[in-house]
Amino acid sequence: MFAQVLVDIAHANVDRLFTYSIPEDMELKRGQRVLVPFGAGNKQTEGFVIGLQETYEGPAQLKSILRPLEPYAAFGEDQLELASWMKAAYGCLLVEALRLMLPAQLRGGRVREKTIRIVYVPREVDLEAAFASMRKKDGTYRSPKQHEVLELVSHYAEGIRVGDIYGFIPGSGPAVQALCKRGLLQERGHEVFRTPYGNHPVERDQPKELNPAQKQAYFAIAAGLEQGGGIFLLHGVTGSGKTEVYLQSIALALEAGGKAIMLVPEISLTPQAVDRFRARFGDRIAVLHSHLSPGERFDEWRRIRLGQVDVVIGARSAVFAPLENIRLIVVDEEHESSYRSEMTPRYSAIEVAKKRCRQWGGVLVLGSATPGVDSYLKACRGTYKLLEMPERVQNIPMPETEIVDMRQEFAAGNTSVFSAPLQGRLQACLETGQQAILFLNRRGYSTFVSCRGCGYVFECPDCDVSMTYHRQENLLKCHYCGKTAPLPRLCPQCGKPYIKYFGIGTEQVEQQLLDTFPGVQALRMDLDTTRGKTAHYDILSAFARGDAQVLIGTQMVAKGLDLPNVTLVGVIAADASLHIPDYRSCERTFQLLTQVAGRAGRADKPGHVVIQTYSPEHPAILLAARQDYRQFYEMEIKKRRLFLFPPYAVFLRALFIGPQEGQLQARSAEFARGIGEEVRVALEKAGGDSQALLFCEAGPAPVRRREGLYRYQAILKLARTAQTGAAMRAAYAYAALQRGDGFGTLEVNPGDMF
Ligand code: ADP
Ligand code: ZN
Repeated sequence: MFAQVLVDIAHANVDRLFTYSIPEDMELKRGQRVLVPFGAGNKQTEGFVIGLQETYEGPAQLKSILRPLEPYAAFGEDQLELASWMKAAYGCLLVEALRLMLPAQLRGGRVREKTIRIVYVPREVDLEAAFASMRKKDGTYRSPKQHEVLELVSHYAEGIRVGDIYGFIPGSGPAVQALCKRGLLQERGHEVFRTPYGNHPVERDQPKELNPAQKQAYFAIAAGLEQGGGIFLLHGVTGSGKTEVYLQSIALALEAGGKAIMLVPEISLTPQAVDRFRARFGDRIAVLHSHLSPGERFDEWRRIRLGQVDVVIGARSAVFAPLENIRLIVVDEEHESSYRSEMTPRYSAIEVAKKRCRQWGGVLVLGSATPGVDSYLKACRGTYKLLEMPERVQNIPMPETEIVDMRQEFAAGNTSVFSAPLQGRLQACLETGQQAILFLNRRGYSTFVSCRGCGYVFECPDCDVSMTYHRQENLLKCHYCGKTAPLPRLCPQCGKPYIKYFGIGTEQVEQQLLDTFPGVQALRMDLDTTRGKTAHYDILSAFARGDAQVLIGTQMVAKGLDLPNVTLVGVIAADASLHIPDYRSCERTFQLLTQVAGRAGRADKPGHVVIQTYSPEHPAILLAARQDYRQFYEMEIKKRRLFLFPPYAVFLRALFIGPQEGQLQARSAEFARGIGEEVRVALEKAGGDSQALLFCEAGPAPVRRREGLYRYQAILKLARTAQTGAAMRAAYAYAALQRGDGFGTLEVNPGDMF
């Protein structure tokens, strides 16, 4: 037999299959990892068996596989196919795709499987005779230690851990060994899997009686499971009971003998969230997220691979979990940008989920209170089946929302971060022993420039995006078209000298809170306070326990929290994310505000939300306050169509990083010329119009120099047409040839393009 092996080296030169002969007595499966001699020096190298064949015709001397690395296949057949698909779809190396499906620690043998040794007295041993044989003529024991150990072990029918014997009988190591050798004890390895969140017991709960909207969604998903496919967009307001629908749909998939994957944003993957699944499904779940220790991650992966798991819950990369027979994949908060990897290969977990569902005949459920406009467009067009849950469960009302115009506060002489209405609400909340969340929208807070007097924001006259301040050149710049403007000292709208970069920190909010309400207990959650492995969890648990009345935080507090005592949400500055020079900034702002507002009043006490802003008339803010997704969508999609932004167009970017600016400049320009040519040809070949390539330009990246290296980019904008797929394939093919030396892969609609 012969094996086609892909070596585990990420280099374009070796990203192909090498044939090895398989020794007579070795049995290998496709997907198994093996050790092979590789290269001129026959260096021992790890590899993957991609193909098996009985005959081989070619140069006579083939190298031979040294040994398999595990007794089981690391990849299923479906994963091998998925990897090939990714190679084609994302222009990555096959080995890069495969690596996503393995715990990194498995490679290079960095973790060992953790076992606990247990010894017991085999049934066939006659204890009386054994003790007798150990006794000397005078009644003493030849080896008192051995006697003691055997005596101890004989009391434990199921056996006892060797470590425990050492505890009872110090220095008994040699005795245990000798007894094993004589056959009086037998050892059995007992595998222990490290569990990510400890083993605290979780009380089992029962499925809840679904309300009519939940039922409708559930039955639609059930029908999909029956038919073996379908993509659903579950649009349900915060607190509408989406998670309950997920839980019951997963239960249904399991009943049908299938398995399920549940993806949630990393930040929502709290132990509380996991416990909800454990309460329903017991221990046949696995959890995968980036805070796991290497050992934990490896164990969870292996439990899944060995078929001991029915439901995998995890962040983005859990979509690659080695589950078979996947009947259902749920992606909660489907609009989250964290489902797209910003590292090579730059995959979208949702696209991968679609592919895996196609492979297994599974159903994909995308859920959100604020679906991405591109997803909602697909639902409107019927590509996704739309399921709506417009109300909260059990007649709990949506919170009441108030928008506060901070320009007026400023005019009235209030320079505090708290407006008068927010301060009043906070006061009332604290007095009644309820809890509040203060949310600080800090995304890109310092990049836009505005007037504190009137809220004027400097925008590009041509592009409908805010301009960015460039400190070096001391001017404003549009990153879409390159237009520049001087930074005036006086505001062009109100003439006052109140122009400043936006920016308040969480610490500042905390300080002012303590100054305003002396003695109040506050918790702060931001990048600084959540460095440790469990910090995020600890802060949330403390808040849930009621250790503090106020939680101050950034994006992290916006999602998933379901705390009955939280009745007030204060948004300190709603505007910050509105003016990021990105076509998605309105959508992101709307999503964030809707999500954070949804934290208030989720149980029996009514909720209240105060949104502070310098742009009270901005539709993204008005509509978020009204929780009116539909109208926001209509407005946003119209704008996208008008300006030809995604989903009506695709941006592609190639980023070049290197020490020599001139070289990068030339290289990015040459790249833009070359790829533009390829794309135009591909468009025409596919029967389209080359004009669909709206622009294709090279220039410095917005951050032109970082950590001493220069950055240049080529950007393409393609109008969406029937030929877009062909054009992108051509673009990827061109880019793949240019790879290396400071350039990785093309990015699609990247987050930091401008
Ligand atoms: P979402 O995921 O849409 O924010 P959840 O599923 O978390 O909503 O539901 C919000 C709360 O309502 C949870 O505490 C949940 O246990 C409860 N809940 C959900 N569905 C029902 C139901 N049918 N009957 C009673 N309570 C429910
Ligand atoms: Zn512009």
